[in-house]
Amino acid sequence: IDLVEKVKAEIRDVVDFPKEGIVFKDITPIMLDPQLSNEIVEHLATQYKDSGITKIAGIESRGFLFGYPLAMRLGIPFILIRKKGKLPYKKVSYSYDLEYGSATIEMHEDAVDANDKVLVHDDLLATGGSAEAAAHLIKKCGASVEAFNFLVSLDFLEGDQKLKQFTDNIQAIVN
Ligand code: IMP
Repeated sequence: IDLVEKVKAEIRDVVDFPKEGIVFKDITPIMLDPQLSNEIVEHLATQYKDSGITKIAGIESRGFLFGYPLAMRLGIPFILIRKKGKLPYKKVSYSYDLEYGSATIEMHEDAVDANDKVLVHDDLLATGGSAEAAAHLIKKCGASVEAFNFLVSLDFLEGDQKLKQFTDNIQAIVN
């Protein structure tokens, strides 16, 4: 079977997490399978090797799991986008509205510069709010957002509509 089917088969649906009515896509079974994990990284490396991206930004926390190995495989730097208060050094931040309240994300100020073409990576695209905020933060630092990549996209939520303002290059292994 091909990679898409293998990844699909290892994503576990958890009903009523984190609250009633939500079906959570749990990607941790993939990490129990080092061979499939390697195949995912190889697949993504092939996909992005000639794309011109200069850095990969991973969104806390599951965006770190495949983002960093992919960056190492491509021989480019990896940068961390985290929730407010987690990063130790000088930071740039971006605040955005949620359904109830607001959220702030941060990145180290030396993580990107104006020459960077960044791939934003996370495990899963839902409404697109997290990836959109990450892209705004990267642009705030003068870099450009070249592409978005996810292991899984919940296409029915149309999160890509929030990301098209940055680039049309929006991809997921499982749609
Ligand atoms: P969005 O901001 O609505 O697109 O939500 C995406 C963010 O929430 C990502 O950082 C995901 O890791 C997390 N997320 C939302 N739903 C799920 C899920 O079903 N499985 C895993 N992560 C999820």
